Amino acid sequence: MLKVEILGGVGEYGRNCFFIENEEHAILLDCGIMNDAEKTPPNLTKDHVEKLDAVFISHSHIDHSGALPMLETWDYKGEIFMSKMTARQLKRSFKNTKIFQPTTIEKWLRVSDYLEFQWGYSGHIVGSVWYKIRFFKEVIFFSGDYVMDSYLLNATLPQVDGTKYDLALIDSGHIEKQINNLEVLQQIKKYIEEQPSRPIIFPSSFSGKTADIATYLFQHTEREVNIDKEYFSFLEDYYNSPENIRTPRYEEILKSFKMDCFRERVESENAIYFVSEINEWKIEELLHIYPTAIVIFTGYMKKDGYLKRLARNKAQSKQFFYKTHLDYLDILELSKTINATDTIYFHSRLTNRKTTFTKLVEKKEEII
Ligand SMILES: [Zn+2]
Ligand SMILES: [Zn+2]
Repeated sequence: MLKVEILGGVGEYGRNCFFIENEEHAILLDCGIMNDAEKTPPNLTKDHVEKLDAVFISHSHIDHSGALPMLETWDYKGEIFMSKMTARQLKRSFKNTKIFQPTTIEKWLRVSDYLEFQWGYSGHIVGSVWYKIRFFKEVIFFSGDYVMDSYLLNATLPQVDGTKYDLALIDSGHIEKQINNLEVLQQIKKYIEEQPSRPIIFPSSFSGKTADIATYLFQHTEREVNIDKEYFSFLEDYYNSPENIRTPRYEEILKSFKMDCFRERVESENAIYFVSEINEWKIEELLHIYPTAIVIFTGYMKKDGYLKRLARNKAQSKQFFYKTHLDYLDILELSKTINATDTIYFHSRLTNRKTTFTKLVEKKEEII
């Protein structure tokens, strides 16, 4: 019998960390901290760590990997599994990291007599993955952060082979939304084309979203696209992961994108800028040089601060929402496909341990 202990990430947005015990052994799915000023850690203790056989990391964002140093503090000796790109993106390396190569996608990888797993791409950021884990007789599906319709990235699901899942942990990060990402890209393009002389600024982050929007606009508008040099090495990972990119896109876009957009100097007066949202001063500086520029926001925003104030200024800003998680219909689809005996919806304040598939359906009106 699986025993699940949620150490963070359910009923809240951040510090994803799930401790799963079976037959006196245990595994950990993700090991994240809260992405806030306090960087709140998960409720992971020395006792948990002592029982652990293996740790599975879905991707590099700190709400999934930021508490990995805690494992070292308590002298964790087991393996930490992650993709090659996740390992590259982490700020530092960890002892006993076990990287799986792209060629092992959807193959069973053995950890011990009672533990084996498969992985596949989850479309959220380059290198992000889901896991299907066999732990003694039980089978677990862990979606990680999942985007079904990324413009650039592949997202797959475990092969349909009659597997009965005992437990699924499903990303519900955008449960209150219903969004078609391609439509959003088209709307952004249309909006930008209606403002031909105004520079455009996207406050951005290290995410699949930044790469999706930048490459789409590069391909579909005449405008110069300029990427903050902070993102060069992150975007390099896309070039090193052709198997993670939707087939036509790699050849169609990425080659010319790199030559044109990875430059420090901007030549035109109406370029599209992707600037790190953390460095607010850079956005402020650009607005100082180009007072007519428009700032386009594409996701949730922190409660207050410079960017929030900017977003209130309708003459200077515009909002669209591009998915970086599963939305309501995606969640239903994935839940149905996996059809686990027990499903835990994580990554949202709106879902909790008691949220079940039937309750989700009943509550449709309430949460959209
Ligand atoms: Zn993430
Ligand atoms: Zn996340």
